Amino acid sequence: MTFPSRRDDLALVEGYHSARVDVPVRLNVNESPFPPPPGWRTAYLEELAAVPFNRYPDRTARALREAIATTHGVDADHVFAGKGSNEVLQALCLAFGGPGRTVAVFEPTYALHSHIARITGTGVAVGQRHHDDFTLDLDGVGRILHEAQPAITFLTTPNNPTGLVEPREVVEAVLDAAPGLVVVDEAYAQFAPWSAIDLLADHRPLVVTRTYSKTWSLAALRLGYLIAPPQVVDALWQVILPYHLDAASQIAGRVALRFSAEMEARVEAVVHERERLTDSLRQLPVRVWPSGANFLLFRPETVDASAVWKGLVDRSVLVRDCSAWPRLTGCLRVTVGTYDENEAFLHALKEVLA
Ligand SMILES: *Cc1c(COP(=O)(O)O)cnc(C)c1O
Repeated sequence: MTFPSRRDDLALVEGYHSARVDVPVRLNVNESPFPPPPGWRTAYLEELAAVPFNRYPDRTARALREAIATTHGVDADHVFAGKGSNEVLQALCLAFGGPGRTVAVFEPTYALHSHIARITGTGVAVGQRHHDDFTLDLDGVGRILHEAQPAITFLTTPNNPTGLVEPREVVEAVLDAAPGLVVVDEAYAQFAPWSAIDLLADHRPLVVTRTYSKTWSLAALRLGYLIAPPQVVDALWQVILPYHLDAASQIAGRVALRFSAEMEARVEAVVHERERLTDSLRQLPVRVWPSGANFLLFRPETVDASAVWKGLVDRSVLVRDCSAWPRLTGCLRVTVGTYDENEAFLHALKEVLA
């Protein structure tokens, strides 16, 4: 008897990996370096203690969605939440992608957009960004959209792993040219000067996704959401598993929104450190790209990137090795940490480059 084989089309799909190395300074997955506010922890645990655990949670996560909606000045029927924005992106691909349909991505960008598309059986049309500064070439974008007629066009702003903030005119131009949904992934929007949420309108096929993993210091929770016209949200309810959001996540995410002042202070501290880190890197033999997010992409000019990565790990600092990613030969990405973590990184980097 032969063991059942997996789906044929999965043969082309690689798993998603990020190295987990247990060193003291971990600056590789863009988490917040700060724990959530103590007041959040107390309020969350208090509400958690009162959960009737033998009962299913609210299937529509009504209270959480209402709180998110209020934060963004929309109605709750414009909000869909899931286990991380990755689950939200998967629901979009299940409802609007699937066999016979295509999504468009522009490399280099967040690897999960094409990965999630493929595991949902959706085709992927890959466009390329400008070589040097990673901006979008709108003629090239127009060509891909015309040829592939994607059901979903993904943009990420600020882009991961480049840090580039897409100008508003560019998002508007893509929105005008795209034949299907435009999904703007705003995992890092709070670190940036503008948000595509301003462009949302019920007649526009625009979706904006957000996460609690970065700004809200709650990566352990797995909670993300989107804002979109109600007809998009309706379609997602059709493909998501019943009770996909557990009671604990619903409470945690709703309570977190009461602590926006503390969250904004954390964002400000990270942005301040980002600028300091950028200036420091500019003193070293590395190319560093400007970032509107909580990380920096850089390319050592004198030492091979993998050797730099290894040299940093040997000095207890973990960054992301992007050197094998599309269009990113020789590049590494460092998450902005606390002052002390950033100093440890800079000190180690200087030694490795010396
Ligand atoms: C980190 C990140 C996410 C977050 O995913 P979650 O599933 O919410 O943790 C989404 N999009 C981008 C571009 C990211 O970098």
